[in-house]
Amino acid sequence: MNQRPNIVFIMSDDHAAQAISAYGHGINSTPNIDRLANEGMRFDHCYVTNSICAPSRATILTGMHNHLNGVFGLHEHIDNRQPNVAKYLKQGGYQTAIIGKWHLGEGPGHCPTGFDFWSVVPGQGDYYDPTFIEASGEQKDEGYVTDIITDKCLGWLDERDADKPFFLMCHHKAPHRSWHPKAEHRSLYTDPIRVPDTFDDDYKNRAAAAMNAQMRVSHDMNYKDLDIEPHEGKGPRDLIPFPEDVTGFELTCSVTGEVFTFASQDELKRFKYQRYMQKYLQCVHSIDENVGRLLDYLDEQGLAENTLVVYTSDQGFFLGEHGWFDKRFIYEESFRMPFLVRYPEGICAGTICTDMASNVDFAETFLDYAGLPIPRHMQGRSLRPLLEEQTPDDWTEIAYQRYWMHRDDAHNAYAHYGIRTHDHKLIYWYNEGMGVQGTQPGGETPEWELFDLEKDPLELFNVYHDPAYADVVKDMTRRLDVHMLEIGDVPAH
Ligand code: CA
Repeated sequence: MNQRPNIVFIMSDDHAAQAISAYGHGINSTPNIDRLANEGMRFDHCYVTNSICAPSRATILTGMHNHLNGVFGLHEHIDNRQPNVAKYLKQGGYQTAIIGKWHLGEGPGHCPTGFDFWSVVPGQGDYYDPTFIEASGEQKDEGYVTDIITDKCLGWLDERDADKPFFLMCHHKAPHRSWHPKAEHRSLYTDPIRVPDTFDDDYKNRAAAAMNAQMRVSHDMNYKDLDIEPHEGKGPRDLIPFPEDVTGFELTCSVTGEVFTFASQDELKRFKYQRYMQKYLQCVHSIDENVGRLLDYLDEQGLAENTLVVYTSDQGFFLGEHGWFDKRFIYEESFRMPFLVRYPEGICAGTICTDMASNVDFAETFLDYAGLPIPRHMQGRSLRPLLEEQTPDDWTEIAYQRYWMHRDDAHNAYAHYGIRTHDHKLIYWYNEGMGVQGTQPGGETPEWELFDLEKDPLELFNVYHDPAYADVVKDMTRRLDVHMLEIGDVPAH
């Protein structure tokens, strides 16, 4: 019997904390994911270093920021020769596996390394009858992707060597767009869902990036993603223009054939939001069920006590806040990651951590629990003292993000970096490309933003130029400079 803990790392794709009931937003119910909060620790301030899929995954694996691991955006593939947490754990006696979404490139130089077993979907993967790539080749599995990923995890656990500890990365593809819920979940969440307070944001008093982002549920959400039949006159990416005048404008549901008409533009906007949330939350429902299956398995096998189980998402997501869907921005909803950890032998049940944590800390945390040295090139810090409610005096007071892709084709999101403390957030929109793939030329002049998170938690008023905040600006800029120097990231300001 091994004494070192097993580690199960469950990560979904684009699952916002607002859609986990343990976080208290009340729009849906996730009783199985909530078990990890009730029986372990909930982190309220865990942040992503770059709010987009591939870079976040690269940081989690390597324990390094993107300027060092080389995955700046969606178009760079990981160089799989570099060290990663799985390689260290395997070398240290763990059995290792990754099953589900990888999204760091395919082929010899980019496929998963450090894993005894890997079975990953190519690119974003499919919701139904997905293809998986393994060391032995490609195969297609029939059924629903979230169920299949869990089946594969349970199958690998069944076949493992019970004398050795294990490290399992269970990476769900859901609830990434386009949302395809499991057939039996399509009747869920049909009651109207509460609209966020900032849904009708006018983007005034903010940097130009907010106004110019093409992430609005009203104008930029693809109707096909909402099960609406594309029809004539559609724009690029199957976008049907958002009509100024809704007279005579109708939409047909591609599943039921139901026809919808609208009394006002506002009604159409809210219709799109409700359809978006229904499908998103239906996909989340399947994830919750499958987290339950995995936790039940650990219970049945007598593994729950000595297994550290994490639930997180590769970043946050806008669920209608500021009128948006998608991610990318350092604004709170996409910056914050859900992060729940259960380890009955070492973490008190029902605890909440309000200290700053980040995805660059995950690899170090796993190595710490495995009793292995943390390599000096890793840039985060083990979260173990926080999980044991012994926060060191010198624990960081800031969280940092840098988003590199400038004015990407899909959402026109601007490149930026910034930091957040518990009280303030400082953002620099440098408004130029830095040679990163997926970057488009042009933009506005550089801009700074400062938000007073105590007075303005919804981040609606940029106070950077308010003389009353001159000292805060000075202090936050100093903190940003020090942090960028520490991690070796080159400033653009
Ligand atoms: Ca993602």
